[in-house]
Amino acid sequence: MKLYNSETRQIEEIVPHSKDVLTLYTCGPTVYHYAHIGNLRSYIMEDVLEKSLRFVGFNVKRAMNITDVGHLSSDGDTGEDKMLLGAEREHKTVLEIAKKFTDAFKTDCERLNLKWPEIVVPATACVDEYIKIIEKLMATGYAYKSGGNVYFDTSKLKEYYRFGNQGKDDLIVGAREGVDEDLEKRNKNDFVLWFTKSKFENHALKWESPWGTGYPGWHIECSGISMKYLGEHLDIHCGGVDNKFPHHTNEIAQSESFLGHKWCGHWFHVEHLNTKSGKMSKSSGEFLTLSRLEEMGYFPMIYKYFCLSSHYRKILVFSTEALDSAKSAYEKIVRRINEIKEDGNISKEQASPYLEQFKAALENDLNTSLALTALYDVLKSELNGATKCYAIGEMDKVLGLDLLTAQVVQEAGNDLNDEFRAFIEQKIEERKTAKASKDYALADKIREELKARGVELVDTKDGTTYKIV
Ligand code: AMP
Ligand code: ZN
Repeated sequence: MKLYNSETRQIEEIVPHSKDVLTLYTCGPTVYHYAHIGNLRSYIMEDVLEKSLRFVGFNVKRAMNITDVGHLSSDGDTGEDKMLLGAEREHKTVLEIAKKFTDAFKTDCERLNLKWPEIVVPATACVDEYIKIIEKLMATGYAYKSGGNVYFDTSKLKEYYRFGNQGKDDLIVGAREGVDEDLEKRNKNDFVLWFTKSKFENHALKWESPWGTGYPGWHIECSGISMKYLGEHLDIHCGGVDNKFPHHTNEIAQSESFLGHKWCGHWFHVEHLNTKSGKMSKSSGEFLTLSRLEEMGYFPMIYKYFCLSSHYRKILVFSTEALDSAKSAYEKIVRRINEIKEDGNISKEQASPYLEQFKAALENDLNTSLALTALYDVLKSELNGATKCYAIGEMDKVLGLDLLTAQVVQEAGNDLNDEFRAFIEQKIEERKTAKASKDYALADKIREELKARGVELVDTKDGTTYKIV
């Protein structure tokens, strides 16, 4: 398997450090808000990466963090904690916010058929680990205490920037929104390992430490969790491109200074999903969620197909026109699969060239759009029905597009497919719950949402039914 490595800026063969297992780490979501479809693009491509690695024969061990502390509104370690902002916005506690948005993220993953990594750890669960790392960094002179906080001293490194010059000027005051001057730092790139002093004193989550009561910085959590669960040598580290600097640059700085040797062999970065006006981000207010897309008539599989038809290293621009094309392409595939008659016996031998073609596309820097071509080739082929279904089923182990079970949603009429019928039933249930808790605004919203899709709700004394209009 060959993948582009953002550190060396070359396509390289993946050679795990151990012959028995390949370790994979993913930066998880900051759970102060719903994941937007940009975040989900990264998680879709990381899931396909994991499944492709398994498909080509690696034994993958994957871990992911959930950021529930320490991520401030500016990546330059200033501003407010994002979790506190979320708690204030929703009039809830930080813990309630973390639970609400972790659950919502998990549901999004399920709807997109993304495998939940076997190791998922909230940042707040490993504080002892971070303290252990910071203690060693203090003892070896890589960290210093200033004004109450503990900082990593980047001047101690031979090489700090590891992803090219990316970010070199980013932390200059004024260059990036929200980067205030922190006079306690010795060097502009130094970053906080442990906070005891901040603009806000009412931080809900605080722990005892040798440097005073406080909380960990954002970067240390990924180093700590990764080293605890995946060991001293990490094979592949994933994230969106915005994580290259400062987050991943700082992860490398502290992990390698702590370990005394190279830490991660390969960096896999997913390019952004942009809107026509720029990057989609949680802090920019208006962003699209998976549920919102569904209200607009695009099921999760359509969005997933849209992502898979483009290469992970290319910027993907979201528009309803582009999603409409993905919708018609996906529906065309599903229709053709529905038409296959499962006749004959499975011939693995005859399926093999198509699966090899599929595998070769994935092995070539995860070329998912070329992998989809292999799927089209199966549909066009002379293979018998049983063999076609077998090959499609194998490919779907990686793609996770519900290829053998999906049905095309009919616009209207009585012959609704099961998926759409189940969707309507679910919405009726949600509306019932909303009405029971006197949330009439939500109940009306659900009614309108269904109406927009040609479904009219009819309330009777025995409950709610519907008719297609
Ligand atoms: P966050 O929850 O903000 O920590 O981000 C979760 C993941 O989504 C990280 O890997 C980010 O790099 C990634 N990400 C953020 N914005 C986008 C975007 N517009 N497109 C693709 N990935 C993104
Ligand atoms: Zn991370």
